[in-house]
Amino acid sequence: MLPKPKKIHQVYFDHAATTYTDKAVVKAMMPYFTDIFGNPSSLYKIGREAQTILSNVRKTVAELIHAMPENIVFTAGGSESDNLAIFGTAYAHSQIGKHIISIGIEHHAVLYPLRELEKQGFEVTYLKVDKEGFVSVKDVISAIRPDTILITIMYANNEIGTLEPIAEIGRELLRYRKEKNTAYPYFHTDACQAAGYLDLDVEKLHVDLMTINGSKIYGPKGTGMLYVRRGIKIKPMIFGGAQEKKLRAGTENVPGIVGFVKALELAQKNKDKEFLKIQKLSTYLWNEVNKKIKKVRLNGPVIGDKRLPNNVNITFEDVEGEALLLYLDEYGVMCSTGSACTSESLEPSHVLRAIGLPYEFAHGSLRFSLGKENTKEDIDYMMKYLPQIVETLREISPVNMGKEKHPKYK
Ligand SMILES: *Cc1c(COP(=O)(O)O)cnc(C)c1O
Repeated sequence: MLPKPKKIHQVYFDHAATTYTDKAVVKAMMPYFTDIFGNPSSLYKIGREAQTILSNVRKTVAELIHAMPENIVFTAGGSESDNLAIFGTAYAHSQIGKHIISIGIEHHAVLYPLRELEKQGFEVTYLKVDKEGFVSVKDVISAIRPDTILITIMYANNEIGTLEPIAEIGRELLRYRKEKNTAYPYFHTDACQAAGYLDLDVEKLHVDLMTINGSKIYGPKGTGMLYVRRGIKIKPMIFGGAQEKKLRAGTENVPGIVGFVKALELAQKNKDKEFLKIQKLSTYLWNEVNKKIKKVRLNGPVIGDKRLPNNVNITFEDVEGEALLLYLDEYGVMCSTGSACTSESLEPSHVLRAIGLPYEFAHGSLRFSLGKENTKEDIDYMMKYLPQIVETLREISPVNMGKEKHPKYK
């Protein structure tokens, strides 16, 4: 029924889920597995050497985001940093208030800690986003109450690529705090998806806390950091040793931290060039799909400077996203439905629902997220098969067989 490819070509279009680790990053990490394996807290030579590299890369990462080394907390990834930012701020400042502001399209690593806090008596305002996923700066500021202690809004959305107006929110928030002569609310942003393409200067963004991870920027998985502005108290989540200024106990993952910083360094150095290069490929992908397949729509902002350049989220009407994904996998093409974290549930993506996409459209959506090794040929390869796969799936879809709508769509 469908032409089988003569030679399966592996095409990875799921860089928003994770990236491979860059060879230069692996190389930078290697000595800290084998030769300089000491515990940075130990006083002999290889311990001191580990401490030295740790303090060197802390300086490097601080410079990259325009912060001080003492404001960097290395963690085991984006989820941990988000949790530390949210629980850490909430618990340290609950005597001031228990109100938090966020948006409904955050990553689960932000939404679930917020839900947990709600169970514990905190109150969360989830601001509405528009059809492209943007929150309004005005809405954010108007939602602030005397008991608001934290605003947490992502820099770039992992499913539809929306770039939230972080610097604008930060600026308005500064004005608000000055006017009211208060230090609250603090402002956290989850920048995991942004780190490869956008400026991370915490002074320009006016953020107080910022989450970054390694696994989305060609760094090692299970690595990341939280920036915490000087003077802001947060409560630790992991207790034990005095590492990371007592904010994160445990022997430091020295090779992981070295790899994470190397990855962030490379990502930030090449971000402008990569932005344009990948945006061109994304534009090509969307144009090809739009030209060759009927009844498709691009979810999220138009491709431009307000969208992550590597994100193409497409609804194929009357198609089950999962079926399409599995078919593409047969041809070597890897992409995702919504986000990897929701692939085990039948619920459609909370992000696509929040931007007002009807249930059945949300179900027929795929996210293609491009990366630095992708080429135009990868897209051409996929486009040799995608139109026919979609057509075949539409023919066998219950909607088109004249049957009742699928019960799941009710
Ligand atoms: C991937 C991701 C996370 C989680 O990061 P981990 O390192 O996998 O824990 C959090 N937020 C966003 C926006 C992400 O894309």
